[in-house]
Amino acid sequence: MNTVSTLTREQTLREMGLGPVWKLAIRAPAEGANTFPLSQGEGSRVRVGDDHRPLVGGCDEVLVSQDASSNDWSALQSAVLDCRLCTLCQQRKQAVLGVGDVQADWLFVGEGPGADEDEKGEPFVGQAGKLLDNMLAAIELKRGHDVYIANAVKCRPPGNRTPTDEELNSCRPYLKQQIAMIKPRLIVTLGGTAAKTLLQRDEIKVGSLRGQVHEYEGIPLIVTYHPSYLLRSPMEKAKAWEDLCFMRRTMFDLKQ
Ligand code: URA
Repeated sequence: MNTVSTLTREQTLREMGLGPVWKLAIRAPAEGANTFPLSQGEGSRVRVGDDHRPLVGGCDEVLVSQDASSNDWSALQSAVLDCRLCTLCQQRKQAVLGVGDVQADWLFVGEGPGADEDEKGEPFVGQAGKLLDNMLAAIELKRGHDVYIANAVKCRPPGNRTPTDEELNSCRPYLKQQIAMIKPRLIVTLGGTAAKTLLQRDEIKVGSLRGQVHEYEGIPLIVTYHPSYLLRSPMEKAKAWEDLCFMRRTMFDLKQ
């Protein structure tokens, strides 16, 4: 049986190309094998609204409920909108909680909002977001359909710098709460920062963590490259393609 894993490096590179859409080169022949039907319906989309609510609360205030069973997305959204736990709140236009199906099997976690996301209130809507959407399409996934997209920090780091450890620590409870409520089957971290905050490691090298299934609180977690990095280093798209195939196979196994 010819499967995606048997692609040569040349085929992989050709498939990845630099074009706007990546496609799986070979479809699984056996019915059900390696297929990932999209869930029906879009699910509820939770996104930060346009209203700039007054910021309240001090840095010591715990704003996020630890009661995951409450499934209270509007409370979480308000907590994030009102958050002042770190200095990122000072320059943001708006906090960006996340977007997608709140009952998704797939959770993709990036680093933090950039200028476009800060403006629109939705993760991955700029150039990196277009590439992420194409990466999702390559494995027959779509934003909002069985997929939720979040970030390690919810407010834009000035100049798109990497969030500090302090900022990651302040924001982690929000991400933890999202994970607890979504209960994804698989978490995919995009880039080192998201991996660092969830795997709680000082040093993260995506190159050495990719290709394995890690675990976050019992949930399988796969590390891959950040789309912004892939835009800067297009030759690495071949490895990202391998990672996409790996995560697709992993999800298939998880559903057995
Ligand atoms: N990069 C990220 O990590 N997240 C976004 O939402 C956009 C760009």
